[in-house]
Amino acid sequence: MTAREIEEASAEDEELTEVRRCIKTENWNDCPNPVYRTLRNELTTLGKLVLRGTRIVIPKSLRDRVVDIAHEGHQGIVKTKESLRTKVWWSGMDKDAERRVRSCYECQIVSQPSVPEPMVRTDFPEAPWEAITVDLLGPLLDGRSILVVVDYYSRYFETAILRSTVTTKVIEVLEDIFARYGLPKSLRADNGPQFAGSEFKEFLDVNNIELFQTIPLWPQANGEVERQNRTLLKTLKIAHAQKKDLKRELNKFLIAYRSTSHQTTGATPAELMFKRKIRTKLPELDSVPRKELEENIRDRDKFRKEKRKEYADMKRCAKEYDVNVGDAVLLQQKKHDKLTPTHDPEPYKVVEKTGSQVVIQSPDGAKKYKRNVAHTKKFVTREQPGETTDTDTGIQTGTNTNSHTEDIIHEDTNKAENTEILRRSERVRKAPDKFQDYVVE
Ligand SMILES: [Zn+2]
Repeated sequence: MTAREIEEASAEDEELTEVRRCIKTENWNDCPNPVYRTLRNELTTLGKLVLRGTRIVIPKSLRDRVVDIAHEGHQGIVKTKESLRTKVWWSGMDKDAERRVRSCYECQIVSQPSVPEPMVRTDFPEAPWEAITVDLLGPLLDGRSILVVVDYYSRYFETAILRSTVTTKVIEVLEDIFARYGLPKSLRADNGPQFAGSEFKEFLDVNNIELFQTIPLWPQANGEVERQNRTLLKTLKIAHAQKKDLKRELNKFLIAYRSTSHQTTGATPAELMFKRKIRTKLPELDSVPRKELEENIRDRDKFRKEKRKEYADMKRCAKEYDVNVGDAVLLQQKKHDKLTPTHDPEPYKVVEKTGSQVVIQSPDGAKKYKRNVAHTKKFVTREQPGETTDTDTGIQTGTNTNSHTEDIIHEDTNKAENTEILRRSERVRKAPDKFQDYVVE
């Protein structure tokens, strides 16, 4: 972009034409944008160019192109803004640059995946059997599978051995378990066919149980459940290899697990679930000694702290992710090598959204995929209107005294811009000797 090009565009720019008139007449009373009036001591003209100090004021029609030039090489927002600040200026430059860089197609494709959408319910349950998670383990060598139900609050396990894992069988087992402990408020399950179909959803609907799929509600608790499940599966595989009775081995595992203090909660799952200890083969004193009681209280405190931590972790990493029907999204793709971009270059369209699930359509409309919202990233198109808040033009035009306007500017502009104003005003201002010195690179 040459200075001549900028001069030609400046000649046609309405705002800059007004500014040139103000500079010439030294009458700033009806300046179209008060920011120019505030900066009037720094503004000079050179032909049709308007300069702020040694920086060229870019006319509206060329601003996007100037940002693009500064963004060449796809530097980040900060670098792009720095590069702009050294040579050019316009009112609202930082915001314009941010908006332009945010919508850069190439940058979006290689950008980091979005943080998953937080679940509606983020509070850790306050009582046993409010929130449970259901998993299917196996199948084992003989084809049988284990249904594992874990209560988040107490970490209490329930299990069932299944010969068939069709939805009807899974529901049957859950009905058994619910008959024993009552209905939970929410249930988390993965995307297995047993849980994804309408039959299972209807079963939960009838019982007024909220279903959460795919995204762990409490990442740490889920990690624990997964590790626990792996241990259980390993135990069962060993039992199977040793030709032991699976059911008996499972029960041994359960009583040991339920009566052992849990690392995180500091209490045994049975205690938290039933508010009493269960008797095991290990010898135990009937009355709880004072010391242990105190320990228990400390454990509970630890548990509460842990709960708070989980909640905080969740809040920290799960930022609202606003993908909706009609949005264009980029799709995460498999890495073939280090250079594979994070996202598929073609933006897809969201045609359906249910909870954390979205149905997306390929650009030509030929393909439809079901994806978790966490594997998509909202695509920012260039057509989208940007934010209207603008640090420079956000000044009330009604202010009469110049000093007052200046105060507001110093308040409103960000720190970098602020120091720049101060620094610039200390300098001796002189117009450049040649146009050629100010070719934007
Ligand atoms: Zn870019």
